[in-house]
Amino acid sequence: MIPGTDVLIIGAGVIGSAVALEFARSGRRVTVVDRGPAPGAGSTSSSSAIIRFSYSTLDSVLTAWESAPYWNDWEGYLGVRDPDGMCRFIPTGMLLFDTPEFSFDRITDLWDDVGIAYETLDTEQIAARYPQLDVGRYFPPKTVDDPAFADDARGTVTAIHESLAGFIDDPMLAARNIAHAARHHGATFRFHAEVVGVEMTDGRVSGVRLADGEVVHAPIVINVGGPHSARLNALAGADVDMTIGHRPLRQEVFAAPAPDGLALDDGAPIISDLDIGQYFRPQVGGTLLVGGTEPACDELEWVDDPDTYDEHTTVEKFETTMYRLARRVPEFGVPHRPVGLAALYDVADDWVPIYDRSAVPGWFMACGTSGNQFKNAPLAGKFMVAIVDAVESGHDHDHDPVRFVGERTGRSIDLGAFSRRRTPASTSGTVMG
Ligand SMILES: Cc1cc2nc3c(=O)[nH]c(=O)nc-3n(C[C@H](O)[C@H](O)[C@H](O)COP(=O)(O)OP(=O)(O)OC[C@H]3O[C@@H](n4cnc5c(N)ncnc54)[C@H](O)[C@@H]3O)c2cc1C
Repeated sequence: MIPGTDVLIIGAGVIGSAVALEFARSGRRVTVVDRGPAPGAGSTSSSSAIIRFSYSTLDSVLTAWESAPYWNDWEGYLGVRDPDGMCRFIPTGMLLFDTPEFSFDRITDLWDDVGIAYETLDTEQIAARYPQLDVGRYFPPKTVDDPAFADDARGTVTAIHESLAGFIDDPMLAARNIAHAARHHGATFRFHAEVVGVEMTDGRVSGVRLADGEVVHAPIVINVGGPHSARLNALAGADVDMTIGHRPLRQEVFAAPAPDGLALDDGAPIISDLDIGQYFRPQVGGTLLVGGTEPACDELEWVDDPDTYDEHTTVEKFETTMYRLARRVPEFGVPHRPVGLAALYDVADDWVPIYDRSAVPGWFMACGTSGNQFKNAPLAGKFMVAIVDAVESGHDHDHDPVRFVGERTGRSIDLGAFSRRRTPASTSGTVMG
């Protein structure tokens, strides 16, 4: 047996831990190294952890739909109960408003194809079911200093409702649960272990060098470094043939007291509202969690150095978020002071993740998760095993992409859809994917 490990995974977020679990299950020796203190302490800890199926491409819809049962039967998926507690899937359903820019048909055609049930609601039905919501059409979203921001609605919205969406109550605990299961299957996790170099032997990856000088040998290294993953790809020289770029994007998410009728206990749904440029969902504790959907009027905050971004929320974003929310939910409680967080997405050019091999033999990547892949961690782990198995046995995944057959539908997912060398997918160009 060669010293070291069979598979080294950089990053113990929800996806890195899921990749570790699947490789450990496949019988490999697995080591996960993470510069942080604990599983899920990176961008995973800030996740809104929404589980939904509203993507623009068939392979993305299938991936989310196939991942959902694992969250529904969490202990069954993990194969073990974490004594420190288990995260919970909270079913809420999801309401999506139409916008002139992004038609429902695109999503409902895919849902019809996959067999995802939904209801179409006209304006009156929305108003009857959710009297707390203003049903005006405000599109396009505007900045609050735009004189047109306060204009009256021009028309009304319609919606689709899907009932199996929901969210995970504690995203960091989800990563910890998966890491616990991976350990149970033999994986080793090392924290405060930062990768600063990549070891090569005869043109192939042979391990990584840590900040303290230690070299960990491994014939297969998988970059699941979240917002740091572009840097890690560059460190390995693995970015040379990528046609899809990915880079950190700063986000702010806030909480505001939910009005009566829109709290979790009231059975409120997640709301995807591209008409005002926001998504919001109820959460434990009687508040709404509110995030943005990158409306065209907002400047995107690309971050050059993921180690030095501003981790504090800003008054400007807080006010924008609250004013926009007030258009749709006039009765929400404005918080006395901002409660929220600032965090990073790792955004791919087309907002579709990259699950792939690389130009460097032995170096693989699960990155570019674009603010929308928490829900897909279980499948991402399985995808990476399928890709590594195929590539390491000589299969040309770049030209004949591996296909993954989902357990739920028996449908095959084209993993070429997540290639680093794909033609950019046609998507919403936002976190909605
Ligand atoms: C604000 C926000 C809201 C979101 N909402 C949703 C949502 O509602 N639904 C959804 O599906 N997705 C959502 N996402 C996206 C989802 O949370 C991410 O796609 C997912 O958590 C990424 O997991 P990861 O394991 O790839 O990365 P991370 O959790 O970022 O983990 C990467 C790890 O790599 C480690 N690392 C980095 N560099 C090194 C190095 N050199 N050496 C060693 N370790 C290193 C870091 O310490 C970190 O722990 C959201 C993301 C954010 C930020």
